Amino acid sequence: MALKEFLEENLGDFFHDETFPIKPTSRYISIVLLRKTESEAIFRTDEGITQEMVTLGVVDEKKASRVIFSKRKAIAVERRKGREFLRLHNLIKEACNINGSMCGECMDCLVYGYAAAERGGSAAGGLKSRVLAENAYSILPASEITDVRTINALSEMETMSEPNDKGELQMRESLASNEYVKPETHFVDLETLRDVRPAEFVYVLGNILRTRRYGAVSSRMGKIKNNIVAIVASDSEPFSCLELTKMVWDRLEPSMRSHPLDDRLVEEALLDSAKTILEHHPGRYQLFTDQKLGELLKLVTEAYENPSVELIDMIKNLKGLKAVEG
Ligand SMILES: [Zn+2]
Repeated sequence: MALKEFLEENLGDFFHDETFPIKPTSRYISIVLLRKTESEAIFRTDEGITQEMVTLGVVDEKKASRVIFSKRKAIAVERRKGREFLRLHNLIKEACNINGSMCGECMDCLVYGYAAAERGGSAAGGLKSRVLAENAYSILPASEITDVRTINALSEMETMSEPNDKGELQMRESLASNEYVKPETHFVDLETLRDVRPAEFVYVLGNILRTRRYGAVSSRMGKIKNNIVAIVASDSEPFSCLELTKMVWDRLEPSMRSHPLDDRLVEEALLDSAKTILEHHPGRYQLFTDQKLGELLKLVTEAYENPSVELIDMIKNLKGLKAVEG
């Protein structure tokens, strides 16, 4: 089945119609994901890795610091990935600049929004993002998943000591120390799309699936694998990242709560937590997991492998888009 038909058949009600969504209409699609570091990662501000003291579980009321994977950084990197794709296929104007003046007319501006100031003096108003993101939390406490690496500069003798003027051996000083998040650390994350149309959903999903490096400066980035565990369409926002993280913690046997966590156990715990929340969700929803989710992700992957077949058309035909001529 083609992607468009699949989306129409399975998610139809939860997409905004083809016109550009001006007022909110209570259509939400939540992408529940596990992000796992695949290298040492440095998500930090100048003060060090961002951490927050929180309660570990809903049941387990012990408190500890968790590492935060910032929503701002995640979205900034993913949208850059999307803009690369748009640029490659001539779907964005050269003048649209993420660090300067944004066009307000391309797929990226329409979905992720832009501030009025970013559009330059001539245009009034901005556009709010319809990708609602939250800070992601590490499942394990910071003490389990962070470490400090000291960078040493060895002497010509390849040791840490070196003779001084008087010929006495002296220790060299370390150059720097870097706090990092260990490889194979799991973060529970959530991106909720509000009032999107099918092409916009595929665009955001594609950006999540295609982004592997996070962080602003290339040498400081971390490699991350995004694993989409569930997609939920609903008429209000059912989840919060922290709540899901705490529920996952409660579901892991105490003996299993050490680094690195077992992928399968974490995934099961996350899915089970999402289902538990949905059982009490006061409204309509549709949950995609396992086979159905696999089918959707396969279609999205194929759409990106061969964008000229369907995806580029979907993007070009989007109403409200002015960046594409003709
Ligand atoms: Zn733009």
